Amino acid sequence: MTDLKFEVTGAEGPKQFFSRLTKETIAHGYLFTGTAGVGKKTFARRLAQSLLCEAPHAGGVLGYDGTCTSCKLIGKEETRHPDLLESIGPLKIGETDEALGFHEAEAITSRDLVRQLSLQSYSGGFRVFILGDVDFASPAAANALLKFFEEPPANVVLLVTSSTPARLLSTIRSRLIEIRFPTLSSAQVEDILRERGFEEKDAKLGAALSQGSVTRALAALAEDEEQLRAQVADWFFHVVGGATPEGTWATRETLDEGLEILKTLLRDWVALTSAGKDARLLALDYGKELTKLPAIDSQTAIGAFAKITEAQRLARTNVSPALVADYVRMALTGTAA
Ligand SMILES: [Zn+2]
Repeated sequence: MTDLKFEVTGAEGPKQFFSRLTKETIAHGYLFTGTAGVGKKTFARRLAQSLLCEAPHAGGVLGYDGTCTSCKLIGKEETRHPDLLESIGPLKIGETDEALGFHEAEAITSRDLVRQLSLQSYSGGFRVFILGDVDFASPAAANALLKFFEEPPANVVLLVTSSTPARLLSTIRSRLIEIRFPTLSSAQVEDILRERGFEEKDAKLGAALSQGSVTRALAALAEDEEQLRAQVADWFFHVVGGATPEGTWATRETLDEGLEILKTLLRDWVALTSAGKDARLLALDYGKELTKLPAIDSQTAIGAFAKITEAQRLARTNVSPALVADYVRMALTGTAA
């Protein structure tokens, strides 16, 4: 028999809970609660995949082979499986005009949902509905869903996730079995960030600031990047104007990215010089400051660009970050003065 897997980090309690259930004993509706970014939607997707997987399940309901026809239709982030519908965000009342495919609807409405709930399964097995971060746009939308619970069709499973379950109508909440998701350990957040392609140092930093939530880790990392951008830009405008910059942004960790930001600023400056107001800028947030700079002549710009590229090469050697930044500073000094 094929080995089944269930690739979800953390969520030990929910894993234990569902591993005790079988396809025969699973209920019609579950509500996953817990802080945003602890893996509720990921768990819901992998649970859906488990229910739809065609491989024989000897033990509990959790697990999939990842290779059957069903599994191949369910990706990490999106699904093309006709028996899995996923809707994230507010559920509106009303009907869409287009006859959208089951899984293609962008903003499904309550009525769509109720209609879909009544349809037969395509593959002869389960139909699974994931309503992620659900928010009922109107009480009428919620009431439409209540009809489902009055006479739930066989083999339909509804998985609702919410970090603010108190906002759900009590009539709906009371019909769902609530499963609480714990926050992740920082080692688990680190693993998830690494899986998502973050570099070692960012995975570690994000995990340290995460308080057990991947969402918080991502926000903290974005903020970190924003801070570096602001520091580098401030330094840049001082230097090109011929002033002495205060402090330095350059460390072993920030050097590579900082030089990339400098290139963007220089590139935008050149674009503004040649195209004026019609220039398409990469660093839109610094457009105003860049417009205030005098024109840069193309020879100066080319020279400065070459120096930053050389600095990027130096950054990968043992040369100290402060020296690399100083090298760039000299290349840029007074270019606008
Ligand atoms: Zn499968």
